[in-house]
Amino acid sequence: MTQVFNFSAGPAMMPKAVLEQAQAELLNWQEQQTSVMEVSHRGKLFIELITQADKDFRELYNIPENYKILFLQGGARGQFAAIPMNLIGEKGKALYLTSGHWSATAAKEARLFCEIDEINILEQSDTLKVANLDFSNVAEQYDYVHYCPNETISGVEIFDVPNVGNSVLVADMSSNILSREIDISKFGIIYAGAQKNLGPAGITIVIVREDLIGKARKSTPSIWNYEVQAKSDSMINTPPTFAWYLCSLVFKHLLKEGGVKAVEQRNQAKAKLLYDYLDQSEFYRNTVAIENRSLMNITFTTGNDELNAKFVKDATANGLQALKGHKVLGGMRASIYNAMPIEGVQALIAFMQKFAEENK
Ligand SMILES: *Cc1c(COP(=O)(O)O)cnc(C)c1O
Repeated sequence: MTQVFNFSAGPAMMPKAVLEQAQAELLNWQEQQTSVMEVSHRGKLFIELITQADKDFRELYNIPENYKILFLQGGARGQFAAIPMNLIGEKGKALYLTSGHWSATAAKEARLFCEIDEINILEQSDTLKVANLDFSNVAEQYDYVHYCPNETISGVEIFDVPNVGNSVLVADMSSNILSREIDISKFGIIYAGAQKNLGPAGITIVIVREDLIGKARKSTPSIWNYEVQAKSDSMINTPPTFAWYLCSLVFKHLLKEGGVKAVEQRNQAKAKLLYDYLDQSEFYRNTVAIENRSLMNITFTTGNDELNAKFVKDATANGLQALKGHKVLGGMRASIYNAMPIEGVQALIAFMQKFAEENK
């Protein structure tokens, strides 16, 4: 059997060591003679699990004490609605910076709940580029400013943190959480669906500064209310215990691997390898400006739809899975999240070379 590498954008590959551990303790977790998914979420052992997960995640991502970490359901899309419900206050208005599909989708959902202004920060010429990030002169009018630092579909990443003055910065980090070091204190809220860089689908992490908790509008459903969830340790209803458990194993695994600093170095090395290859190739191209090239999702095309389809088909036959680009964009996309080993990128480049040679 040839070795398979899974480039899926999400749900995405998990670290092999984590899957092996989950498999090894599936039928007998913590000497209970049951699996972790069959025990009470309020039992001592499960509470120990989530307490340790909170501690490990804080250590990994260097999260200051005045932030709470919530483990919720409903995915990133649930948060698209929860954020305006929890944050709209005195000013009655939010600012949405749009740079692609996900930031625009978040803005659209927010319109159901509040008045928003939108600013398109993506400059589209020969390349996709994010321009000015200084909003300090306008941000004061808004209860918060929302953006998406990694647009998963186009592969556009924003490395500088927008300046929003005294307003509250909210970030959808679904596809780049834990991928590189960041200064959490610049953010009011960071949220992410787990299924790209944290664990399996079904659980959503919300890192929220404490002073932003307790402002939800009255009609906010309890499951979306940060205050209710924070007070009940994210257990206002039965949480997705198995997904939470898998996330806890991923955190331990990343700590063992050297933490986010080491993860970032590996991610930089993987992305550089692929972008360097793309840049010298006359067969493939990537159209994102160098300063906004995602470390996580790398898009490329041959410029020919038929050839792209053949590429995806042949790659799959060679053990390189899920390279088809998102349907709104076409082409190819290699998602190389934390769990992708450098060998996967090397195998992809070797295949790309061979394919280019045979199809030029
Ligand atoms: C995948 C993704 C989403 C959607 O996440 P769900 O958990 O399916 O709601 C939102 N934002 C970004 C940046 C994503 O990558």
